[in-house]
Amino acid sequence: MFHKLQDQFDQVVRFVTIKRDVVGNVRQLTAKSHSGRAESFELQIGLEMLIGNCGCKLFEYVGLPCCHLLKVFSKYDILKIPKAFIMTRWTIGANKFSRSYDESQLEGDNLRHALRHTHLSLRASNLFERASKMKESFDFAVLKLYGLESYL
Ligand SMILES: [Zn+2]
Repeated sequence: MFHKLQDQFDQVVRFVTIKRDVVGNVRQLTAKSHSGRAESFELQIGLEMLIGNCGCKLFEYVGLPCCHLLKVFSKYDILKIPKAFIMTRWTIGANKFSRSYDESQLEGDNLRHALRHTHLSLRASNLFERASKMKESFDFAVLKLYGLESYL
């Protein structure tokens, strides 16, 4: 996921933004490519709530802020990606962990590696979240991990 975000950062330089309209603290802009293809997207951003959207819909489809929004963030000196553009499913320790699959899918013999990985990560993260809350449970978890590691 992070290299996809990196791709968007890399593309920021390809665009210029032109302010079209101001409505209260909402800025409506057009992001235009200044090289090669004639791409242009309309976007808006609320500078108070730091919410917004872009006509390219990358955020809606992929859950990542697009290069056009990143360009606008930098234009307004927004130095961190606003919370509204960070999907909880990418944040560390978020209760990631509404499950996107069904337990019954785990029973087949030829499970996809990705599904096995997701399932283990989910169980482990929830467990580690609990274990990290107290020294005692943390020590216990670390000890059990040694056992698991030597077995696997
Ligand atoms: Zn965009």
